Amino acid sequence: MKIGIDIGGTTVKGALFDGAELVSEREAPTRGREGREAIFSSLFSVIEALLQEGKNVSLLGVSSAGNIDPVRGVCVYATENLMGWTGVDLKGTLEARYRLPVTVDNDAVCALKAELLFYPGLKNVTMLTFGTGVGGASLIGGKIVRGEHFDGARWGHVTLVEGGRRCSCGKLGCAESYLSATALLARGREKLPLLSDVKELFGLYAAGNAQAHAVLDEFGGYLNRLLGVIRAQAHPEVIILGGGMAQSEEIILSLIENKSDVAFARLKNRAGVVGAILG
Ligand SMILES: [Zn+2]
Repeated sequence: MKIGIDIGGTTVKGALFDGAELVSEREAPTRGREGREAIFSSLFSVIEALLQEGKNVSLLGVSSAGNIDPVRGVCVYATENLMGWTGVDLKGTLEARYRLPVTVDNDAVCALKAELLFYPGLKNVTMLTFGTGVGGASLIGGKIVRGEHFDGARWGHVTLVEGGRRCSCGKLGCAESYLSATALLARGREKLPLLSDVKELFGLYAAGNAQAHAVLDEFGGYLNRLLGVIRAQAHPEVIILGGGMAQSEEIILSLIENKSDVAFARLKNRAGVVGAILG
């Protein structure tokens, strides 16, 4: 059996696999803004619950937000969505604690690897994940872009608006500060103060609420801008949209001007845990 873990800014998700079969799933709030110890305690609780159910677990695959060196299994940089995660030796810590082989990679890279199972012939594919942040990963010419500091194809931190909103990475105007679920909820609450989550915002949009339309039309404008940047720089055959927010497929698709190269994650929110065990 194998365990796949996906560490996002809001939730640590875990899944136990027997071959290709999903046996069990667990999750816990990441508490990413509380710092390294809090994140580790959530991570350990999910892993340990799955280890209790699993027999002969042969691999612990971890997908994490942040810039990850997959060879050393170290998070070389994370934004404040995972406070204190910069410099964390995930592979070393988990191997010492569980005496199991551990693989670690960036969450969008893991989601991309999982979704590529559905596009076996393609060599140029970009993955975007919309959650607490905006993750990005690209396959170009058949190779996953890594970059010198494991920050290649991090589309969430492309500047969309010069001098714009402050991003979790400290820069101004990044795509993430307009397109993450966090950003969308904050913008939604400026017009609809009682909004509980982005799901409710999409529901109000579907019901024809004018404020929700204004907020999501603006979101659509930024999304089209980011897709344009990706097309110009990476020339993908397909751009796959994933992460929790991408589950509102119909509405998001209706906001996209050029839909010809856009697809949604087939594995939905499980792309990260599936990709984590692919090595
Ligand atoms: Zn940024």
